[in-house]
Amino acid sequence: MEKTTIYSPGPSNVRENVRLAMAAETTNPDLDPDFFNLYKNMCTNIGKILKTENDVFVLSGEGILGLEAACASLTEYGDRVLIIENGVFGEGFIDFVAMYGGVHVTFSSDRDKEIDIVALKKFLDTDSNFKYATVVHCDTPSGVLNPVDKICPLLKEYGILTVVDAVSSIGGEALDVDNSKIDIVVSGSQKVFSAPPGLTIVAISDDAYRSIENRESKIKSFYCNLSVWKDYYIDQWFPYTMPVNAINGLNVAVENILDEGIEEMLDRHKKIANSVRTAFINSGIKLHLSSGHSNTVSVIELPADINVDKFLAHIKKRYNLILSGSFGYLSNKVVRIGHMGENARFDKLVYLLEIINSALVDLGFTPKSNLVREFIESYFKDEEMATY
Ligand SMILES: *Cc1c(COP(=O)(O)O)cnc(C)c1O
Repeated sequence: MEKTTIYSPGPSNVRENVRLAMAAETTNPDLDPDFFNLYKNMCTNIGKILKTENDVFVLSGEGILGLEAACASLTEYGDRVLIIENGVFGEGFIDFVAMYGGVHVTFSSDRDKEIDIVALKKFLDTDSNFKYATVVHCDTPSGVLNPVDKICPLLKEYGILTVVDAVSSIGGEALDVDNSKIDIVVSGSQKVFSAPPGLTIVAISDDAYRSIENRESKIKSFYCNLSVWKDYYIDQWFPYTMPVNAINGLNVAVENILDEGIEEMLDRHKKIANSVRTAFINSGIKLHLSSGHSNTVSVIELPADINVDKFLAHIKKRYNLILSGSFGYLSNKVVRIGHMGENARFDKLVYLLEIINSALVDLGFTPKSNLVREFIESYFKDEEMATY
């Protein structure tokens, strides 16, 4: 059967050298010193991408594990936690906080754009008695990118720890964990890193460790207890048997990023994202957000008489291509295109946009201008790039 092409905002396509690395012989991760070194070196490399000196760990579990682990490790019964949200994942933190006995207060921001930092500051001046706050860098269901480089230092001024969900942004959008004073940042293997799903990346600051060490009650989980990772290398002991093959794959995926160059990779995402957005706008198709577009995902609104689910089913059936709708309040309302990691490539986007263009025509809408031509023109334009 012909290969199905995926353009969802995660999982992304996985490069061949990553897939081959995963096929290597399985070692015993707890007894093989070479594996400890490979794991530690990989974590150091991820720290370079995150621009942090903090401890980095890779846990066996999808991105959600990292998010729950951060909340499980920090939250004690009755702790006040600030949920800063303008989207599905932002709001989703409420469940994790509640599950571990925390009392949440929500700061909601307009879902059509990035979080309003001025309004947040105003809010904090009236109430800042929080142990920690949660915020999402790129809230993937809407594609909104939040200015965590402003939000987290502001929270620090009020003595509030921060947990940042950067699952779908790291590698495709700049994130400077140390300068932004982020205490716990979480990512996943299957988005920009372009390794298969199954691994969570977590970086933990000294302030976060201190808060965890000063807990009065025990953490109500083993799997979600971040403190059990601290001395794994000194002790040459992992809390549980590591998924060797998945780690081997992620290790090569991380090397791919460093080989390309972190800044070069960010530029690639910016150029692709800008050209994709220009193509949609010039073809008369509406971008979902008014501002705060992440360079890792584009979210569009189809012409009013085309049903999203029907469009996606048509694309799969006729062109064997997988695109995403969204969920939560955006269910059946928007179409999402993942251009992250291995998917943020010129040839992949030309192919995708040609098919979207054809599918729109099939369903009775002729774009004002051909999507592919607009994309290519924007991509090769020498002038200063437009930024949305
Ligand atoms: C993908 C993603 C996660 C992980 O969630 P899954 O739906 O289980 O893949 C968490 N946060 C964000 C912002 C994500 O994009």
